[in-house]
Amino acid sequence: MARIHGLVYAALGLFVSVFSWKLNYEKLVFFFYIGLVFIAIGTAKIILGLAKKRTSKLEKSRHKENQKRSKYCPKCGNGLKADDIFCSRCGSRI
Ligand SMILES: [Zn+2]
Repeated sequence: MARIHGLVYAALGLFVSVFSWKLNYEKLVFFFYIGLVFIAIGTAKIILGLAKKRTSKLEKSRHKENQKRSKYCPKCGNGLKADDIFCSRCGSRI
């Protein structure tokens, strides 16, 4: 979603820049720069979106790891490893 948003910004900026440049550069130089700013914002948004996606993926995999480790004995509540078959405290089968 963020990626599409960034692309929209960049496209709009490109559109404004090219149009102001083609129509009358001297009078519309202000719009030309606004277009450039929009392109910069769009590019930044795309990059930020990609970075965010990568971190959320990392967090998800980390969360999965945590879920694997956070297994508890149903009898005594002792923390267990994922591959434990018997509880190390009370000895009951998991
Ligand atoms: Zn136990």
